[in-house]
Amino acid sequence: MTMQRRNLLQGAAALAAFGLAGCATTSVPSKARVLVVGGGYGGATAAKYIRLLSDYKIEVVLVEPEEAFVSCPMSNLVLGGSRQLGELTVGFGALQSKHGITVVRDRVAGIDAVKKTATLASGPVISYDKLVLSPGIELMWDSVTGLKEANAAGQILQAWKAGPETQALRRQLESMPDGGVYAITIPEAPYRCPPGPYERASVIAGYFKQAKPKSKVLILDANPDVTSKAGLFKKVWAEQYKGIVEYRSQHKAVAVDAKTGTVKFEVQDDVKADVLNVLPSMRAGAIAVQSGLANSNGRWVNVNYRNFESTAAKDIHVLGDAIQVAPAMPKSGHMANSHAKVAAAAIVAELNGWEINPAPMLTNTCYSFVNAREVIHVASVHEYVAAEKTFKAVAGSGGLSSAPNELEGTYAWNWARTIWADSLA
Ligand SMILES: Cc1cc2nc3c(=O)[nH]c(=O)nc-3n(C[C@H](O)[C@H](O)[C@H](O)COP(=O)(O)OP(=O)(O)OC[C@H]3O[C@@H](n4cnc5c(N)ncnc54)[C@H](O)[C@@H]3O)c2cc1C
Repeated sequence: MTMQRRNLLQGAAALAAFGLAGCATTSVPSKARVLVVGGGYGGATAAKYIRLLSDYKIEVVLVEPEEAFVSCPMSNLVLGGSRQLGELTVGFGALQSKHGITVVRDRVAGIDAVKKTATLASGPVISYDKLVLSPGIELMWDSVTGLKEANAAGQILQAWKAGPETQALRRQLESMPDGGVYAITIPEAPYRCPPGPYERASVIAGYFKQAKPKSKVLILDANPDVTSKAGLFKKVWAEQYKGIVEYRSQHKAVAVDAKTGTVKFEVQDDVKADVLNVLPSMRAGAIAVQSGLANSNGRWVNVNYRNFESTAAKDIHVLGDAIQVAPAMPKSGHMANSHAKVAAAAIVAELNGWEINPAPMLTNTCYSFVNAREVIHVASVHEYVAAEKTFKAVAGSGGLSSAPNELEGTYAWNWARTIWADSLA
């Protein structure tokens, strides 16, 4: 039996020991319990830091349906063929064995914010003093006619959550003939990871340049311009991928025809491609929407930025991609990790009756590969501005690469290994 499997089984046993198995609702324990929903960049970090900051006194239960954490950052390299998914996968075992978190492999199917309980898909009901929700994003299939069916048939993939779809899209690229066209469509911002689609297009162009030089990459963007590191990406396409990458703005995809490999746009002419990678609009993960927490246009969750508590429900703290962002705040893994630390500190303070930090800070760095080795980055620091009740980028903080370079390729991998250890080890 693997260590991870053993830990998850121990988690299930621990859940039973707490009286959480079965359908009965447990009473609120004398010891405070935080229930964390989602073990991605936001949730895993929050679970670990609540344990650390409470000196291991607050009980933490983490519910996550996946067997292991698979990182979206770096997953574009799997599409380019230079890395394998296994290199981006980390188990949840250490959260359990080192940090005493009860990891439950299940999905939260419902939240009752009044009774302060969550119901798991398999039946048990868990009570909480505080709930941390970091469910990531849900793809809005209805925003592109025919896309849901094309995805279900395995014909048009998204791979916007790293996992088996990433590998399936890689196989489509491998079987595409030289001289073929790969097209990626980008929805209007905000969406998960602003530079992610441009990184993907660049890395795939790098693969084509080596393995299928007659092939093309088409970037069909609903936005008026490249939404992140625009100057740097455009320079790379002009210098490294001339004749391979073509960028078209103002292309909002509205329908697909999987049989003919066609995308239709709101205004522009149809486009045909051999491999279509259509990214629809996005919103907060389904559980946030179903629970009535997505009170910003029915898509994102408004939070009080001092403690990340939902403005729709007391004692539910929402992190990561699911929230309505503050100005210049990207939907990124680094940002979700930063949210988690601010929220964890606030939750520990509130459960102990202490004052919460009046001036929290957040940081962000997004590294983007432009081929298998060279990287560009953008970084920023964000401070809570009490008078405006929001986060704002600190003037003069952060920065941008001057040009792609291999040294930053090393930094990018160090960033990834460090943040995975920070969240999960
Ligand atoms: C191709 C690509 C490249 C990227 N590159 C970068 C990068 O270089 N740097 C960077 O900082 N960010 C990057 N990102 C963005 C980053 O992946 C996200 O911003 C980050 O994952 C957000 O964290 P999260 O906790 O909100 O969501 P996630 O990390 O997606 O975690 C959500 C978790 O919640 C679980 N979940 C969902 N619903 C339920 C439920 N009902 N019950 C229990 N669990 C549930 C899911 O299984 C999942 O594990 C990239 C994204 C993509 C797609």
